[in-house]
Amino acid sequence: MASGNGHDEDKLYRLRHSTAHVMAQAVLDMFPEGKLAFGPPVENGFYYDFDLPRPLTTDDLAEIEQRMEAIIDGDYPFVSREVSADEARKLFANQPFKLDQINKLASGEEDEHGEAGAQPVSSLSLYTHDRFTDLCRGPHLARTGEIPADAFKLLNVAGAYWRGDERQPMLQRIYGTVWLTGQELKDHLAWLEEVERRDHRRLGKELDLFSFHEEAGAGLVYWHPKGARARAIIEDFWRREHYRGGYEIVYSPHIGRARLWETSGHLDFYAESMYSPMDIDGMDYYIKPMNCPFHIMIYQSRRRSYRELPIRWAELGTVYRYERSGVLHGLMRVRGFTQDDAHIFCTPEQIEDEILEVLRFSVRLLRAFGFTEFKAYLATRPEKAVGEPARWDRAIEALKRAIAVEGLPYEIDEGGGAFYGPKIDLKLRDALNREWQMTTIQFDFNESERFDMTYVGADGQDHRPYMVHRALLGSIERFFGVLLEHYAGAFPAWLAPVQVIVIPIADRHNDYANQVAAQLKASDLRVEVNDSGDRMQAKIRAAQLQKVPYMLIVGDREMQNSAVSVRLRNNQDLGGRPVAEFIAMAQEAVAERRDL
Ligand SMILES: [Zn+2]
Ligand SMILES: [Zn+2]
Repeated sequence: MASGNGHDEDKLYRLRHSTAHVMAQAVLDMFPEGKLAFGPPVENGFYYDFDLPRPLTTDDLAEIEQRMEAIIDGDYPFVSREVSADEARKLFANQPFKLDQINKLASGEEDEHGEAGAQPVSSLSLYTHDRFTDLCRGPHLARTGEIPADAFKLLNVAGAYWRGDERQPMLQRIYGTVWLTGQELKDHLAWLEEVERRDHRRLGKELDLFSFHEEAGAGLVYWHPKGARARAIIEDFWRREHYRGGYEIVYSPHIGRARLWETSGHLDFYAESMYSPMDIDGMDYYIKPMNCPFHIMIYQSRRRSYRELPIRWAELGTVYRYERSGVLHGLMRVRGFTQDDAHIFCTPEQIEDEILEVLRFSVRLLRAFGFTEFKAYLATRPEKAVGEPARWDRAIEALKRAIAVEGLPYEIDEGGGAFYGPKIDLKLRDALNREWQMTTIQFDFNESERFDMTYVGADGQDHRPYMVHRALLGSIERFFGVLLEHYAGAFPAWLAPVQVIVIPIADRHNDYANQVAAQLKASDLRVEVNDSGDRMQAKIRAAQLQKVPYMLIVGDREMQNSAVSVRLRNNQDLGGRPVAEFIAMAQEAVAERRDL
């Protein structure tokens, strides 16, 4: 979205915060017995959570908007003051969620953002406009009249648990959006419509690509034949490029003994994301949340010499991680997924070249899928960290140089690295200008120690290798979801599960249509024949809805000339041409990974 200057962003923040207060007042005016929870500004807008006597309807939202307009018209000033915790408790005596928050702030259990580990506060900040007072740090606009009345809209109501906790009461969250001008609001609403139109969950259903089955387990993906075909194309391409890029591909088990996860440390620092153990022969086995320890086992299967390094091992490794049911979201957040994982083991002298090559390789592959804009995020050494500082410095230098050589825009998150090593995250921008994190390149000074990994150096002594984790697409599931939304389901020809539909005009052309299809299939094109009894226009419409790149219409004339009449999904009519010519044309588009 419009990423204005810092001043505008600050103004937007205050605007959104202030509009949330105005909305809360409007809701309490309608439901005096309503209870207030949290109401922060968020990207593109704001929300506020309420406990109300009944579920809100669309009509209610319209009425709340009208009441908000009246409050804006009133041009009330936002006035702040500091009170003691006791005073605040008195003021919010009828507001149990606010009382909970006041107690947490006063005791230092949480800060005003709900983050743990704060200092107890001696006074609390309140903001009042008109008859409405909220517990809030601000900042706000000076007056309600500064909210442009034509630039805000309430979008929808969703369920949300108090403090995001399933065991707490379910509240009603009203989402709203507000902008500096009416035009910006209009643009944003159009963008939201486009987001909705491209929602991968909807496209997944319409294009028959995948499904989820709550009754068989939440957050687990079922790939239908067409989705599976597109996935196989992605994976085949991925494998070929990895072999070309100097990687070897490995396969590893799906479960491992508790011992393995104790050594790796996962049972200490990652247990919350792991599924409960299963008992096999009296021993605990865990389903894997990561592939790393398995690759280390392969490394440890014999002594390694410096002559073998660098070792680059990649795996499309399916892992399972516990995610709270409330955060699951289509393909984007699931409980079982396939990481396109790789681990690099190398000597200190090799690390810089390796990092450079990983970054170059990642960007090249992401470009092949049609993405063009990337940004790197580098996270450096946090206060608590393992590994020698000299190794950290060398690793961070390598990451910085790689970003510079690739000429990527970047941001540095000082101290934001994991305790076991620095990393680069690569985010890409999609067709809707949204940023998605895909690639992670993560150093690891922990595992090599824990597993006591070594290689024999030129000096005949044992040395510790550098270890780097790398996921390029992230997970196949999420990447597929992002691709689907980026292309709105209209995959370029090389990725399309069905590339060609042959459309016979009448029944007497069915045999010829099947012959054409057989020829295309023999040339590795993915083709279907629509020999249903529908009329030609209906068949064309059906193919367009399925976003198939090429339609080949065949009738008497085409039959006589061993030809096809070519139509593209964007409605362009390329007219008649010999079958062989079409095959050559389509193969070229596929080979060059062009759209059509
Ligand atoms: Zn506020
Ligand atoms: Zn790993």
